[in-house]
Amino acid sequence: MKPKSSLLPAALAGSLLSGAAPAADTLSQIVTHAGAQPSMKGPEDYFTGSVRVDPLFAPSAPASYSGGAVSFEAGARSAWHTHPAGQYLLVTAGVGRVQEWGGPLVELRAGDVVWCPPGVKHWHGAAPAAAMTHIAITGVRDGKNVEWLEQVSDEQYRREAVGAVGSGT
Ligand code: MN
Repeated sequence: MKPKSSLLPAALAGSLLSGAAPAADTLSQIVTHAGAQPSMKGPEDYFTGSVRVDPLFAPSAPASYSGGAVSFEAGARSAWHTHPAGQYLLVTAGVGRVQEWGGPLVELRAGDVVWCPPGVKHWHGAAPAAAMTHIAITGVRDGKNVEWLEQVSDEQYRREAVGAVGSGT
């Protein structure tokens, strides 16, 4: 029995932000074709607004990190959370925003790369008027990849972003 904070719910733990995992002893490359892993909706407990998660790969020793593509509709965002082994975000489309606790709200655009260090409380999501997709590469430590905290309030979300260009925020 995993505590709620350790990972995602059982139904999602194997697939949200992760996907097919190769056998530990495999010696050949593995191609997981597009469409082979079903998309899922980001759970309401951990996201605000419309969020689609496309699992990419699960952790497999010695590569102790998972990958997933997350698409946020305009106004959608994650809850506040931390990652015990850190996380890279690779923004692939649209305009978004990321913020760590106590820090500025930073605008993101396609091509931007974000490193979230272990234990740093943060959130990420779309801009108020534009969708955003990022690939999340999330480290795993002791079987955990995320600890979810409270939701991002509208007041927190609607602050002006640093680096915003013509976003109207
Ligand atoms: Mn994160």
